Amino acid sequence: MLNKKNVRLGKVRSSIRELFEYGKKRKAAIGEENVYDFSLGNPSVPAPDEVTAALKEIIDTTDPVLLHGYTSAQGDFSVRDAIASDLNSRFGTELDADCLYMTCGAAASLTITLHAIVNAGDEVVVIAPFFPEYKVFAEGAGAKVVVVGCDQNFKPDLVSLANSITPKTKAVIVNSPNNPSGVVYGEDEIKKIAFILDTCAVENGTQIYLISDEPYRELVYDKDTKVPFIMNYYDRSIVCYSYSKSLSLPGERIGYIAVSNKMEEKDEVYAGVCGAGRMLGYVCAPNLFQQLVKRTCGLTSDISIYKKNRDRLLNALVSYGFEVIKPEGAFYMFVKSPEPDAKAFADRAKKFELLLVPGDDFGCKGYVRISYCVEPAMIERSLKAFRALANSYKEDKN
Ligand code: PLP
Repeated sequence: MLNKKNVRLGKVRSSIRELFEYGKKRKAAIGEENVYDFSLGNPSVPAPDEVTAALKEIIDTTDPVLLHGYTSAQGDFSVRDAIASDLNSRFGTELDADCLYMTCGAAASLTITLHAIVNAGDEVVVIAPFFPEYKVFAEGAGAKVVVVGCDQNFKPDLVSLANSITPKTKAVIVNSPNNPSGVVYGEDEIKKIAFILDTCAVENGTQIYLISDEPYRELVYDKDTKVPFIMNYYDRSIVCYSYSKSLSLPGERIGYIAVSNKMEEKDEVYAGVCGAGRMLGYVCAPNLFQQLVKRTCGLTSDISIYKKNRDRLLNALVSYGFEVIKPEGAFYMFVKSPEPDAKAFADRAKKFELLLVPGDDFGCKGYVRISYCVEPAMIERSLKAFRALANSYKEDKN
């Protein structure tokens, strides 16, 4: 007998992927330019020129046997050392190479981290709206997922968070800038989350890890928006990072886990990360891209296009009567459905060739996600469809 759970996971696509596949068929049928595909979070700006130049230089100057050879399971020492130094210079931490484990992107970072710390039956708290794959990753590690709600601005409901912590709570996952809302948790929220976890852990005599999933860390649009670095607020924190979005390299599968060295059991946790990586077969992340991020880890793609897209789309949608909280980061906006059922709204949007992801799988009913990491020209073409969609609801009322 096969593993039924995994067979089912393989057969049922995520709602995001389902819509993306629908979009591909629709584009083949009516032409690419007539479909307004806001489904995937695939960066639409290229990697910085320095990335291309560094790749060429690495290929031209490195012995190919070394370049295409294995590194240490946890990643090349010099790569981890360079990333630790970059983080220390930006965030005032004192990390070293042995706090870092190189991975194939944030999905691997999260999966490894959860397997490192979770025992069967432990609880992992996620805060809505959340990246739907958290459920797959946490349940795959044997955890029970506990969902905490948010306020009307998509900030964590801190009372529910405090009430959700039990003696079985092993970890809380935060994601800021957030997919799907684009909201950034400020210092105040992070301090309060840290206080709740510290207090509950002492009361329950437990250890609670704060996992910060931050593939969008550098994607913020206003100079006053700061993304607090989690390790400076909570000692038992583990950062799951990826260069998929910040360097526009999602297909290259490169990222890392950083275990804070402020926690007393850091060596045990890091050993757990190495062990989970080994058990899952996530050893020795792609070496060419390890060497690349060693040289380019402080850089970010040109995100000015995302900012323009955000502003253009936000202003247009609001003028058509849609309700949207202004996203401060990432490249998503979470739009309130004009009817209670967001799936029905997304289905109606499809009639106008607009592909919007219903928010139910993100743990928030009544919203759809728009990924605005797209060509600005597509946004311009899509506006008449958004207007017609809004008008169709106004006509319903008349
Ligand atoms: N976490 C969040 C919040 C994401 O949005 C994504 C991808 O879109 C991931 C994790 C997975 O990132 P990666 O492609 O680096 O595995």
